[in-house]
Amino acid sequence: MTSAARAGGAAQNADVRRYQMYIDGQFIDAAGGETFEVFDPSTEGVIATCPAGGAEDVDHAVRAAQRAFYDDGWRGVSAQDRGRILFRLAERIRARRSEFAELETLNSGKPIVESEYDMDDAATCYEYYGGLATKINGEVLPVPADAIALALREPVGVAGQIIPWNYPLLMAAWKIAPALAAGCTAVIKPAEQTPLSLLELAREFEAAGLPPGVVNVVTGDGPGAGAPLVAHRGVRKIAFTGSAEVGKLIMRSAADQLKRVSLELGGKSPNIFFSDADFENAVDGALFGTFVNQGEVCSAGSRVLVQRDIYRKFIDAAAAKARTIRLGPGLDRDTRMGPLVSAEQRDRVAGYLRIGRSEAKLAAGGGVPAQFDKGWYVEPTIFYDVDNSATIAQEEIFGPVMSVIPFTDEADAIRIANATPYGLAAAVWTRDIFKAFRVVKALEAGIVWVNHMQPTFVEAPWGGYKASGFGRELGHWGVEEYLETKQVFINLDEKPIGWY
Ligand code: NAP
Ligand code: MG
Repeated sequence: MTSAARAGGAAQNADVRRYQMYIDGQFIDAAGGETFEVFDPSTEGVIATCPAGGAEDVDHAVRAAQRAFYDDGWRGVSAQDRGRILFRLAERIRARRSEFAELETLNSGKPIVESEYDMDDAATCYEYYGGLATKINGEVLPVPADAIALALREPVGVAGQIIPWNYPLLMAAWKIAPALAAGCTAVIKPAEQTPLSLLELAREFEAAGLPPGVVNVVTGDGPGAGAPLVAHRGVRKIAFTGSAEVGKLIMRSAADQLKRVSLELGGKSPNIFFSDADFENAVDGALFGTFVNQGEVCSAGSRVLVQRDIYRKFIDAAAAKARTIRLGPGLDRDTRMGPLVSAEQRDRVAGYLRIGRSEAKLAAGGGVPAQFDKGWYVEPTIFYDVDNSATIAQEEIFGPVMSVIPFTDEADAIRIANATPYGLAAAVWTRDIFKAFRVVKALEAGIVWVNHMQPTFVEAPWGGYKASGFGRELGHWGVEEYLETKQVFINLDEKPIGWY
């Protein structure tokens, strides 16, 4: 159990809200009665307590999800009705947009403007899969005339879902929405740092028409609640978003039962700037690509590759702009960068700042800002003359730290860009359309932007190459992860077996 687990005197404070988890349609405490604390990263104060769920709670939730699926008939609920439930969830998020956004910011630290976008994206995700629920078709195959062969699409059953703290309600939407569209039931574990928005959304589940047990939210930490969910024999599929390190643990555990796994892991994504790119846009794109959401983004363009002929000018412009980024509490509308999610994450990033100082040159930031008494802030930081083999160029930092690397030509850019174990995302900035597409084809990444970085739409596939994981979320790809394919052979020959 981490620092969040020690629910001490603060839990008695009237301002501290006591949350319960949601299992089988009920808000309940952990079987063992333990709780953990949840913080406001801008004040470091405790804002809530949540049940510290364990194996017993996971078992309760999985059994409820199995019963809902097999006995209570969720399997038989029509696609139209499942779609309507998803639309109602979207409506509830839109109706309570400011409230959800404020809670998300309070709990995660991110700027309120970003939380508002996240709420819109989460609602859109439920709408997309609400529509897709009625478009999951099987196929009739062109076999010889004395038979009919069908491919039926069926839900895999109970899905176990584990999500990180950087986009809490949005990551939950990416998991819950396709599972329900496919006809699965789910047990989802939010990150211990940021469970609040999903628990708040769970208050809407019943009104949206979700029967008890169809979606269950178990709170707790990774080893306590996540590991038993992965190991549970009643869970048919694990969908995980988080670090590569935990992704490996999950794959090993799931291997015991040959359980299906999809993994959305980290990255160290290249953001490539050719000298013919629009300069102003390029500088903005480098900053946005690395510093949005305090850099706590799996697809952060934290390796900034700049062509030599604009290298110096680019660093100076980026550093000057980075110094103007307004840090502050996320709830302040003028804030462009909030605190990091936890003291642990702040310390982790600060460790990389120390490593970066010994490996490269510093153009901006480089420390913890002096102007705040409280809050887990880190300055937007730009290192340059970074060698691609340096620690700060190879390891995912998950904070506002940019490593600028020079390159000579197209071949050099591609070589450096692909020289990483990861392959989640990449971007290329140029006005030369031929060069843009050549580079797009050469990059090993699950998403490549041209003259932009970070926006993504629910209609398009999201996921990684190489050590960034496998499986795809979003779009019609996302629902595939929750479906089985059954072949049905129907004999039309009245005397089919003349063999013996
Ligand atoms: P993390 O430490 O890997 O945790 C992710 C989730 O896994 C949390 O809910 C965590 O629980 C849980 N967990 C930890 N240990 C576990 C175990 N042994 N068994 C089962 N579950 C376990 O990652 P994070 O620190 O929350 O998030 C940052 C990472 O996520 C970064 O590496 C980032 O790149 C990646 N990420 C990827 C994407 C993507 O789409 N590819 C999106 C967002 C984030 P607790 O934290 O509660 O202990
Ligand atoms: Mg964690």
